Amino acid sequence: MPAQIEPLRAFVRALPKAELHLHLEGSISAELSLRLATRHAVALPGAEGGLAGVRAARRVRDFRGFIRTYLAVSSCLADAPAVTDAVDELAARLAARGVRHAEVTFTACTHLRRGVAEAALVEGLLAGRESAAARGVSIAYVLDIVRHLFDDAWPTLAFAQAVRRHDPSAVVALGLSGPEGGDHPLTPMVEVFAAGRAEGLRSVPHAGELLGAASVRAAIELLAADRIGHGVRCLEDPAVVELVRERGVALEVCPSSNVALGVVPSLAAHPLPHLHAAGLAVTLATDDPALFDVEIDDEYLRCAAAFELDCEALRGLARRSLEYAFVSHATKARWLAELDAVVAPAEQPPVQRVE
Ligand SMILES: [Zn+2]
Repeated sequence: MPAQIEPLRAFVRALPKAELHLHLEGSISAELSLRLATRHAVALPGAEGGLAGVRAARRVRDFRGFIRTYLAVSSCLADAPAVTDAVDELAARLAARGVRHAEVTFTACTHLRRGVAEAALVEGLLAGRESAAARGVSIAYVLDIVRHLFDDAWPTLAFAQAVRRHDPSAVVALGLSGPEGGDHPLTPMVEVFAAGRAEGLRSVPHAGELLGAASVRAAIELLAADRIGHGVRCLEDPAVVELVRERGVALEVCPSSNVALGVVPSLAAHPLPHLHAAGLAVTLATDDPALFDVEIDDEYLRCAAAFELDCEALRGLARRSLEYAFVSHATKARWLAELDAVVAPAEQPPVQRVE
C-alpha cells in the first residue's frame, strides 16, 4: 500500500457518510457468527476448524456459494440478543469509519420461516438500534422480500408494521433481493410495494445486478423505486439511463460486491465512472461487508485508486450518500455542513513539531 494512503484514509473516515446498501446478515463477522453458532448449537460451515475454518468456508466464489454462506450465517440469528449483537457489532464498525447513518436491510421472513418468533426479531432490531445510537450511528431498517418467495411479500410488510408500532422511524423502506430473472416477474410485488408506499415506506429494490437494463426499468415503473440496489447494468440501455436520471433515482453501487459475484470482471472494469459521467446519482456501499471482506472506507479508497478520484470526488460520493438517505432535512443539512468542513489532506497545515 502506498505511503500516502493513510492521510487519505483519515480524510475518508472523517467525512460524514451514510451506508445505504448493506445487509445485516452479511455484516456478521466470522468471530460473531462462530460465537452465536456455538451459543445456539447452529451448524456453521467450517466451525470444526475454529475461526480460521469459518473464515475459509465463507470465502465467496460465486453467487450460489454466496447464498449458501449467507443463509448459514443468517441461521445464527436465533433470538433477540443475537440480533442485537449483530446490529451492535455492525454499528461499532460503521462508527469507526465516520458513518453517521445506515439503512440496513433485514430479511425478516428468512428468520420467521426458521421459527424465530416475530417478537424476538422486533426486540432485537430495536435494542440494536438503541445501542447503535449510543455509538453515534443512526440505523433505520429496510425490510426486504426475496424476489421468488412471493408468499413472503405480505408477511414482510406485516413485519415492518410490527416494528413500526413500537417505533415508526425504525423502518424506512421495503427492499427486494434474490436472483433477478424472467421466472420471477415483479408483478406479484406491485401491490405490496404500493401498500407500503401508502404507509410511507420507500422502495429500494435490487435490480440491474444479475440482469440488464430492463430489470432496472421494471423496478422503477412497477415498484416506483426511490433508489436501486446496484443498478449498474442500466448503462446497457440509454433510454433506461435517461429514465433513472429523470426520476432522480439514486444507485447504491457496491463495487467490491460486483467483483466478488462476477457482475464485473475486475474493479478496473467497473462502470462507476460511466455511471457518474452519465449524470446519475451514485452512492458507494458495501452490500455484505463481512462476506466480501470490505469496509466502507476501503470501498472509497479502492475506487479512489482504481479511478483516480481526488478528495473532492470522494467528498461528492459521501455527499450523495447523505443526500439520498431517508432522514429529515434538518439532519441532512447538519451532516452536509459537517461534510463541507472536513479539510482535505493537501490543505492541511504542516505539523508543527514542538521540541
Ligand atoms: Zn444487496
